Amino acid sequence: MNKLSNFRRLLSSVFIVPLVIGLLFSVFAFQSKAQDIDLLLKGGHVIDAKNNIDRKMDVAISAGKIFRVAADIPAGTAKKVVDVSGLIVAPGLINMHTHVYAGSNSGFTDGTSSQLPDAFAPRAGITTVVDAGTSGWRTFPDFKAKVIDNSTTRVLAFLSIAASGYSNDKAQENIAEMDVQKTAETINKYADNLVGVRIGRYDGTEWTPFDRASEAAKLVNKPLFVECHLPMYSLEDQLNKMRSGDIMTHAFENVSERMTVVDEQGKVRPFVLAAQKRGVLFDIGHGGGGFWFNQAVPSFKQGLWPNSFGTDEHRTSMNSGMKTMLNVMSKYLNMGMGIPDIIARGSWNAAKSIKRDDLGNLSVGSVADIAVLSVNTGKFGFVDSGNNKINGDRKFEAELTVRAGKIIWDLNGLSAKSMVANK
Ligand SMILES: [Zn+2]
Repeated sequence: MNKLSNFRRLLSSVFIVPLVIGLLFSVFAFQSKAQDIDLLLKGGHVIDAKNNIDRKMDVAISAGKIFRVAADIPAGTAKKVVDVSGLIVAPGLINMHTHVYAGSNSGFTDGTSSQLPDAFAPRAGITTVVDAGTSGWRTFPDFKAKVIDNSTTRVLAFLSIAASGYSNDKAQENIAEMDVQKTAETINKYADNLVGVRIGRYDGTEWTPFDRASEAAKLVNKPLFVECHLPMYSLEDQLNKMRSGDIMTHAFENVSERMTVVDEQGKVRPFVLAAQKRGVLFDIGHGGGGFWFNQAVPSFKQGLWPNSFGTDEHRTSMNSGMKTMLNVMSKYLNMGMGIPDIIARGSWNAAKSIKRDDLGNLSVGSVADIAVLSVNTGKFGFVDSGNNKINGDRKFEAELTVRAGKIIWDLNGLSAKSMVANK
């Protein structure tokens, strides 16, 4: 009998003691894990194209990164909980076409036509803006010091093949300064910021600027961004020179200086569809003159969909028909594009096109850049660059914007403390 009880005692010490220690350790580990959740977005409808998520989920954030995405993460495990039920929880939006080298000169480069990123991005659910060649190899360090390093919004950029960028003067058309090597060197030196090369305005007839921009992009293995103020180049020739992954902005413009993508019979030109099939990407680039319903609607119906919703953000476009990236996305919502397709183009598609797979998704470990959006219903009017209007009944609005885990925009105080209502 004694032998048996000794044996039992031995069993307890061998198994039970470690078991108890293990249990205690697990509880402690769980508690410390739970306390690591800084912000819990609870009850929203998560749309994350990269991870194929389109359903109700909670999103937990820790130390500025996505910590967990799952159904019913307990509210008690987080330092702060925000109820986002009834709202869309999407990766922070990426605006693929902006001019943000703001300064005191006239025009865009270091100028008053550009806008500071934080002045328009957070309030539209945008956590990353991509500057469209407002700087070149000569001016980029100044742009970085003045704007990029001083913005909460992440600022990436296409580097203009023109040395100074997108200045008002004729200097930007000086071919002698369109330097392939210096452009490539600058992009490699600032690889965290620079995502490709941009060809912009050029009034001459030579293909040299376009070819140099394309060569520089090829050297650094990044896309060429074509902002086609190139009246002497035909659209077909431009598209034929573009490689798979290159981006044509102002896709749906209707201006004298570039052939439209839709012909007089309302058909998308076959060479445009062929370019799309080859992998050329089309960005909206709405701006003041770059988006027309008579181009966008037939294109949408015939399968020429934008890959990204770049707004061509600048002082005048933001106060005309464009307004905000969410307004541009709302135009497509009312044209019939589904919400998951819209969100994908505003986030993951845009990220992939600039080879920044780390952005535009809610994968665990990714930076916690998040847009919480509402879809409001009512009577809305949407205006294009020709002052033509379509009516709609739904409109996106940014309720909450989170950048690297911090709330940087909160339209209706979702994260604020409630007070007793004053009557
Ligand atoms: Zn532009």
